[in-house]
Order: sequence, then structure tokens, then C-alpha cells
Amino acid sequence: MFKLFRKLWHDCLDFFFPKICLLCGNPSAEIICSKCEKSLSKMDAGYCPVCNASISADMTKCTVKHNDKNFINFIRPLAKFDSQHKQLIHLFKYNGIVDIGKFFGAKIGEIIARERHFKHYDIFIPVPLHKKRHRERRYNQAKVLADSASKICGKPVAENIIKRIVHTQSQTKLSPSQRRKNVAGAFEVVNRDKITGKNVIIIDDVVTTGATTEEIARILKLSGAKNICTVCIAHPESKDSKKFGI
Ligand SMILES: [Zn+2]
Ligand SMILES: [Zn+2]
Repeated sequence: MFKLFRKLWHDCLDFFFPKICLLCGNPSAEIICSKCEKSLSKMDAGYCPVCNASISADMTKCTVKHNDKNFINFIRPLAKFDSQHKQLIHLFKYNGIVDIGKFFGAKIGEIIARERHFKHYDIFIPVPLHKKRHRERRYNQAKVLADSASKICGKPVAENIIKRIVHTQSQTKLSPSQRRKNVAGAFEVVNRDKITGKNVIIIDDVVTTGATTEEIARILKLSGAKNICTVCIAHPESKDSKKFGI
């Protein structure tokens, strides 16, 4: 009886609020129709955060010797930050459509389960939001991605490891060096013992200059983390983030 009532209620909702694809507006049972999903751009490899060299699934880090210290072995985006991804990420972050994060999180989980270089990574750490921003948005977009990825690949999401202690200004209009200054000292490790000896996958929505994830990786290493990589939805083709308005 209850099942029948529930079905009638859902049929009713579907009638008044038909489900449509967020990209093309055509009717779709999923948030993105299969045609648009196929048309989404994809990247088939990660890149080195220092020299931008491509890092394929059988590489653990860049083969070039770099003079400057880098804490992240590689960054693996799902796609380029093109207009389709820009639109979806905007809806996810600023319009409360959490299902978009679940959709991309599942894709992240598939990549992690498939690509060899993730095999020895132990835990996910989503980039934390400051509590003030968390209150405004009601959810942490990176945590939504990590939870959804975890369901697919089985690696756990480590909770309460990193805290954002400074409410930093938006990075959107800042240059790479201003971004680095903006996030310096913005995070704190709160559970050091959970990190020692661990290989960590940092999860973020968009990685532009990588200043935020680099700062997190720096303090994770100080707390004894072994290897660190980053996985995100999208990465701009150009390092000139202003062009993309993110
Ligand atoms: Zn569509
Ligand atoms: Zn490199």
C-alpha cells in the first residue's frame, strides 16, 4: 500500500516537475542525458604540478628532476574546464544541485579504481571549507565528491584531519602568487596520528594554479604523510585562471 502511494506521489512529481538534462534541457531520467554525457570532454592522463608534463596511469610521479619543492606527485583532472564543465560546476557549487557532485564523484571513483597509480593510495581528504562558508553553502562540495568516489572505489574518506582556520578571500581574481599568499597558513592538521605514513588523495572540484592543494599537501607532509596526489573534476587549459573566472 505504502509502495503504491509512494509511486503515485513520484509519478505526480514527475508530471508537474519533469526531469530534464541540465545541459540540453531535453527530458532525461538522469541529471545529464546519455547524449550530453557522451559529449563531455575527458582527459586521459594527469599532469605534473611543476612542469605540466603528462603523467599516465603507470607513472607515480614526474620523471624530470625539479629544483623547487613540490609536495604533490601528480594532479589528475577528469576533464578540461570547458563551457560544459563550467556550467555544471557552477550549478553544483552555487545552485545547490548536489547530484552533480555525486555524478562527478562516481566518475572520480571509476578512474581511481581503474588507474594503476592509485593502487597504493589509502585515503581521501576533501579540501575543507571554512565553517562560515560551510554554513552559507550547507555542504562541502569536495566532501560530496569524495563520498561518492569512495562508494565506487572503496577507499575511505578520512574525516576531521584538516581544518580551514582562516576564512580566505575568493581566489577567483587573484594571480598565482597572490593565490599562494592567500592560502598560506589557512589550514591546520587536527588529527596528526591518522596521517602518519599514509598515501593521500586530495579531492577538489577545480584545480587552477594548485595553490590550495599544494598548501594542504605541505602541511600533510609535515604531519608525516607519505605520497600525495590530487584528483579534481576539471583543470583550465591555461594557467591564466582569470580567463575562466574561477
Ligand atoms: Zn542532454
Ligand atoms: Zn614535472
